[in-house]
Amino acid sequence: MTRIGVLGLQGAVREHVRSIEENGAEAVLVKWPEQLADVDGLILPGGESTTMRRLIDRYGFLEPLRAFGESGRPMFGTCAGLILLAGEVVGYEEPHLGLMNITVERNSFGRQKESFEADLSIKGVADLYNAVFIRAPHIVAAGEGTDVLSEWDGRIVMARDRHYLGCSFHPELTDDHRITRFFIGMAEEAKASLANL
Ligand code: GLN
Repeated sequence: MTRIGVLGLQGAVREHVRSIEENGAEAVLVKWPEQLADVDGLILPGGESTTMRRLIDRYGFLEPLRAFGESGRPMFGTCAGLILLAGEVVGYEEPHLGLMNITVERNSFGRQKESFEADLSIKGVADLYNAVFIRAPHIVAAGEGTDVLSEWDGRIVMARDRHYLGCSFHPELTDDHRITRFFIGMAEEAKASLANL
């Protein structure tokens, strides 16, 4: 069975575990870097990117997470997780993991819109998808080869760059598990092609 890890340091961890299990895959709560060896794909959840980064440093996760991505296994960053994955973060000199070829901006939907829902069309995933945004970042620029999967209000809110998937919103907070299903599919494909190397 395909095993999907959820980085379990902070944020909406349980909800991702539930969504993975609803899709019939095995969920692994990743608390230690050694556990990365046993998963086929990894979700970086939403929460607070600065807090998550502190915990990543404290538990020695930074290099193991980069190595995980560089091994070709898929990673999916949602909200704060998208900020962790990005190659560039507006206003910061250094990115966190810096793996995905995108530039993100934090808290970019304005204070009056701390949280809101929007109906999105997501290329290859859903014609109509009700998304929950909470103090959400957006993708300011998508690099060469990056596929823009969804936009809202003129801003990119979901994209895929090779085996990296990222979205501004929280796909784990509703009962619509199609985005998690899509990511599990990416992990299944990568597992099959890495096994053939
Ligand atoms: N604003 C948060 C951050 O910068 C992200 C919010 C979220 O993950 N819901 O990390």
